[in-house]
Amino acid sequence: MKKILVAFGTRPEAIKLSPLILALKKEEEFSVFTCHSGQHKTLCDDVLDFFGITEDLNLKICEKGSTVSDMTANALLSYTEAIISSEADAVIVHGDTSTAFACALAAFYLKVPIIHVEAGLRSADLFSPFPEEWNRVAIDILSDYCFAPTEDAERNLLENGKKENGIFCVGNTVTDALKYTVTDSYKSDLLEEGKRLVLFTSHRRENIGMPMINICNAVKRIAEEFSDTRIICPMHPNPAVRSVIVPLLSGIENIILSEPLPLFDFHNLLSRSYLVMSDSGGVQEEASTLGIPMLIMRDRTERTEGCKKGIIRLAGTDTASVYNHAKRILTDKAEYERMKSSAYSYGDGNASSRICEILKNKLLH
Ligand code: UDP
Repeated sequence: MKKILVAFGTRPEAIKLSPLILALKKEEEFSVFTCHSGQHKTLCDDVLDFFGITEDLNLKICEKGSTVSDMTANALLSYTEAIISSEADAVIVHGDTSTAFACALAAFYLKVPIIHVEAGLRSADLFSPFPEEWNRVAIDILSDYCFAPTEDAERNLLENGKKENGIFCVGNTVTDALKYTVTDSYKSDLLEEGKRLVLFTSHRRENIGMPMINICNAVKRIAEEFSDTRIICPMHPNPAVRSVIVPLLSGIENIILSEPLPLFDFHNLLSRSYLVMSDSGGVQEEASTLGIPMLIMRDRTERTEGCKKGIIRLAGTDTASVYNHAKRILTDKAEYERMKSSAYSYGDGNASSRICEILKNKLLH
């Protein structure tokens, strides 16, 4: 029996690791120890409840300081203790958060094998996304097993000198999560007959300030010009995000500002959207997989596959650019259908079981 500590703490980590935790728990050769960093307390709780997962330990690192340096330093110390006290034989970290990096570093110092899920993403700019690009590069260097979600990610790892026998291209576990959530029978008061649903989110650190103001101004113009749209905007709890969005977008009839939506609602509304406008990484993968045209409000993306296929458009953060891209999609039906038909799926929904099989092979023999 091998004990695996699974580290998470943000909403996207919880969403993408839950299907893997459930798959690992089914295997009698593994014992799973779930370790929450304490970063996104309420956002993660909803996800864990949905999947029926309980946390074995919460490190509460946010209570000890909230700058990136505080969190990384505290997470390094707390994960070190957690790995030692849980007697973990291996750790799983996901993606690119500073706490995932700290957990990988803690495991490295203790010489405990590191498993990186969603490895190999690169924007090729250390400052965008910041500090996530650094975190990804560093975690990949430290990891014994890198699970790449796509062939592009696998190529990035090889180009960075990672040995081929430590890389496995398995698909993205976000597609596994969508298999749990999206259902034909979904109903919601947020859906309005005869209106085209536009799902809008913006929270990225690089966009806070002028870029987010520009994006909101574009969204406002779209809402005013296209009265047949209903724009739903679940707001990230970060006060710096809300201080931009609330003054610019409240009081407009067809814009609904809400608290973060439970994952079940978010995925089902996403699957029924006409257009998605977001700067989120995970939402790009979900929209692309579900075949929903999306504008990504960033200057570059590490999820290049959906863009290359044509379902995702990089719209930047300039008001005119975001507005023009959205207007074209909302008015040009042929263009819209072209985008829709070029969906790219970030996996077949079986990434978790593939990872389990590979880990059985690698850790148990
Ligand atoms: N999400 C959610 N409710 C919301 C907004 C987003 O459940 O109100 C989910 C969404 O489905 C996606 C994830 O949160 O899987 C994205 O998280 P976020 O945008 O915070 O992070 P990123 O992916 O950019 O790191």
